[in-house]
Amino acid sequence: MARVVLKDLTKRYAGGNLAVDRLNLEVADGEFVCLVGPSGCGKTTALRMIAGLEDISSGEVSIGDKVVNMLPPRDRDIALVFQSYALYPHMSVYDNMAFGLKLRKTPKADIERSVREAARILDLERFLDRKPGQLSGGQRQRVALGRAIVREPAVFLMDEPLSNLDAKLRVQTRAEIARLHQRLQATMIYVTHDQVEAMTMADRIAVISDGVLQQVGTPKQLYEEPCNRFVAGFIGSPSMNFVELKVQREDGMRLVCEGTQVVLDDAMAAQLRDLGLEAATVGVRPEHLRVGEPEGPGLRVSATVDVVEFLGNDALIHAAAEGRDVVAIVGADIHLAVGDAVILSAAPRHVYLFEPQSEMSLGAR
Ligand code: ATP
Repeated sequence: MARVVLKDLTKRYAGGNLAVDRLNLEVADGEFVCLVGPSGCGKTTALRMIAGLEDISSGEVSIGDKVVNMLPPRDRDIALVFQSYALYPHMSVYDNMAFGLKLRKTPKADIERSVREAARILDLERFLDRKPGQLSGGQRQRVALGRAIVREPAVFLMDEPLSNLDAKLRVQTRAEIARLHQRLQATMIYVTHDQVEAMTMADRIAVISDGVLQQVGTPKQLYEEPCNRFVAGFIGSPSMNFVELKVQREDGMRLVCEGTQVVLDDAMAAQLRDLGLEAATVGVRPEHLRVGEPEGPGLRVSATVDVVEFLGNDALIHAAAEGRDVVAIVGADIHLAVGDAVILSAAPRHVYLFEPQSEMSLGAR
């Protein structure tokens, strides 16, 4: 296994399109890191540069402390798993998994041992004689994983490997990949646009937007302490609610707009005063809104319910607050109907403040 270090990694495509802009990232030996971001943000390009499938415009990729910029993919000691399994349809599962080792002229007995071990780990032993066409999508993706495992690479690189699977299989295979990582203790870099996938599997997540790394941290750090509005909105489902509010200094310090106000606690008020801000973007997660008046300082939204989605334990409420949509998750025992007037509130510890121009977080309180 090996660590991977990206230094100022940059990709500028012909025509000037800057797909990856000075990406700096260290993936520790044995770590599982997800590169996550919306479509087109540059995550696949970054992965392909690590793999050696894309030329690097500038910067450096090191694998196991060796700069590999000039090495072809086969000499980088990596294994790739893509969205499309790319299995040979005429070969059995066994032969698909053994193929790479045969090409490397690995002794037959060693191939047999590696393939059987990978099949055992991935619960594929029963399928070794089948052709890929006789397998489900999830099983095929496991064969693709098996093909990667038998090579015992220093680093696994995965690009949206679950996106061809239906929702249920995705959840199952996600757990299998997480288990696989724990078992192999392998270095893994995994690209996905799905923040839930990243949150559930990764040791650390790197959030990318428009080719630029926004924040790297554990799932908990990104959820609790997003560095800016983009990360706050991207991590968490449903997304954080945002509203622009103006500072009002009468009667204690507040942030206000029609229908919404935040009565600031001392720490928040001091922050805004120190920065001399006259306005701020306020963020609150749907799961942190509760129905009822705030019990002290904090956020208060007066809104009208316009959609209620029953989820079982909870209900997802869309409410209109002076033309702005507010989403809240409330207990299903709270009976709200379309057209009801509702007061939603959140405690100060759940209220995020962002500088309106830079969109940077005003920090932990
Ligand atoms: P997705 O999740 O949709 O695959 P992504 O985050 O992986 O998106 P990339 O495929 O890395 O994004 O693409 C990043 C940017 O580079 C996009 O704007 C894309 O249009 C552009 N791009 C990708 N490949 C090329 C290419 N061969 N030539 C020019 N531009 C490209």
